[in-house]
Amino acid sequence: MNPFACGLPVPVVLRLLRGEHTRGDRAAYYRTEWWSAQKARALASGGQKCRRCQKAVGTLHVHHLKSGYKRMFNEDLEKDLEVLCRNCHRREHHK
Ligand SMILES: [Zn+2]
Ligand SMILES: [Zn+2]
Repeated sequence: MNPFACGLPVPVVLRLLRGEHTRGDRAAYYRTEWWSAQKARALASGGQKCRRCQKAVGTLHVHHLKSGYKRMFNEDLEKDLEVLCRNCHRREHHK
């Protein structure tokens, strides 16, 4: 997959690829079809449940681990992403 074909402006794609993205860049990335597909793959490989509390209730989120923020577009499902429930995800961003 070519990141430059995802529909985002070139400077945004470059910042995402370099790991120098802003909150706005990430929001744009999360609206791309590429991320939808990545998210679906992460959910499928994570067994459709939260990795922390093992619950499968509500909407599951796919969280970027620190390494994942540096590998936007090329996240490794195991190393860079984590399937979390809403509560665990919120906790992860407020530590
Ligand atoms: Zn959880
Ligand atoms: Zn997150």
